[in-house]
Amino acid sequence: MKGRVVLVGGGPGDPDLLTVRAAREIARAEVLLYDALIDPTLLEFAPPACERIDVGKRGDGSSGFPQDQIAELMISRAREGRYVVRLKGGDPFVFGRGGEEMSALAAAGVPFEVVPGITSAIAVPAYAGIPVTDRRFSSSFAVVTGHRGKKPLDDRTDWEGLARSAETLIVLMGTTWLADIVDRVIRGGRDPQTPAAVIERGTGPHHRVVTAPLAELPERVREAGLRAPTVIVIGEVVRCRDALAWYEARPLFGRRVLVTREAEQGRALVGLLRRQGADPVHVPLIVFLPPEDTGPIDRALEKIDRYDWIVFTSANAVHAVAGRLRKLGRSTAELSRTRVACVGPKTEEAARQAGMAVELVPAGPALPSELVQEMSRRADLAAARILFPRAREGREALADGLTESGATVDTVEAYRTVRPEEAGERLRVAVEAGLDAVTLMSPSAVRHLADLLGDLDFRQLGERSVFACIGPTTAAAVMERGVEPRVISEASTTEALVEALELHFGRRNDVVSS
Ligand code: SAH
Repeated sequence: MKGRVVLVGGGPGDPDLLTVRAAREIARAEVLLYDALIDPTLLEFAPPACERIDVGKRGDGSSGFPQDQIAELMISRAREGRYVVRLKGGDPFVFGRGGEEMSALAAAGVPFEVVPGITSAIAVPAYAGIPVTDRRFSSSFAVVTGHRGKKPLDDRTDWEGLARSAETLIVLMGTTWLADIVDRVIRGGRDPQTPAAVIERGTGPHHRVVTAPLAELPERVREAGLRAPTVIVIGEVVRCRDALAWYEARPLFGRRVLVTREAEQGRALVGLLRRQGADPVHVPLIVFLPPEDTGPIDRALEKIDRYDWIVFTSANAVHAVAGRLRKLGRSTAELSRTRVACVGPKTEEAARQAGMAVELVPAGPALPSELVQEMSRRADLAAARILFPRAREGREALADGLTESGATVDTVEAYRTVRPEEAGERLRVAVEAGLDAVTLMSPSAVRHLADLLGDLDFRQLGERSVFACIGPTTAAAVMERGVEPRVISEASTTEALVEALELHFGRRNDVVSS
């Protein structure tokens, strides 16, 4: 494939504001050059083999790569035939020097494309409950940079003219020169009482907003200690915020929540938490590996026809079996003679997605005892042969129950649950930074957390932050170690856990504000 460069807008901060096309381009990048304001989660979209180059410049241009070097890098990588993604914050053409970079590519004859992004100029006010236009208050807006090298407010920007012509003024890179900007806008004829706002680190769980009449804004911002990056908004639209401040009203706004789930599986929880305004910190305490000896599971699957039933008690077991079948060059369709039973809806969903025809799922809670009951009700287990693939560390309850019903059960190890090597260090950093809540979604996660912290620190963490457990089994593992989990979800789903957290923190807020 011939090399090319795609200039991609990464959006204003919230990773969910990445466009579909931007996500697609990052996912196929062979080289990724990105700036300082790029959220690290966006880099996770890139394939593992992708070369990642941090060319981050600060607002004043002091650190990071010089512009010509960035252009050179892009040109040379593209000429090697590689697919280069140049990722920029917000929209690449809004004070992003995207025009300059594309001009260099054009001059060098390197093919390029542009993926526009959601600019902070509009999205940051939007998350603060400030529409940039509104028929009641403003029918125009201007986006201006407050940064012009060392002397920002030289005569190249006609602040007085802008103050008169655009009803909403939006200033990027203006934190340092706020007082001068306000001065000139007032001199241009704007009422000193005009509502105005400064928004720090917008679209993220720690955004801070200061609103004040224009003349008082610099003083208020100084008092609050706001620092770059900020977006400044001047105009009557700022009034809307009083009624429209929706983002801070998100139930988990600003809460730092530890996600301990395995890397892939934890993503859904991270996304869900973020959409509720939380600041998720993902430190997987679990990694799933194939058995050290895959002989037993492979032999069982090769002769799968001999089994009347295969039972699954977790989505992981389903994934592991589907993976082993693939390795053996077989497909899930070969389970046709063998009936499939699943402990609950999540496991069933995984099995169906893996192409299995699921015959039985108990209607009650997802417990081994329910599964045994339902199976004995629906089939004669007396002479049945049952394959039970599960984790090495799995529990005996199901196999025992089925054996008591007269079945012959082959329990085979399908996967191992192991603690990732780097977990200890990352956990320590997260704990030291402070955590409002710790989500725990399996007894093994609880065990790994307690092992890594030691019993004392485990209990202390349990006092300082809210331990939130999915289902009673995980909660029991926490209690065994002397901590009373403050949040336990009834259903064993990510959604239920997040809802339980919302309820907990919501209630606490009510208490504080009444
Ligand atoms: N191309 C970008 C802007 C680059 S200039 C865009 O379209 O958004 C960098 C400036 O953007 C920062 O100094 C700040 O003024 C603003 N900015 C970017 N992200 C921001 C955020 N999350 N919160 C507040 N300001 C932000």
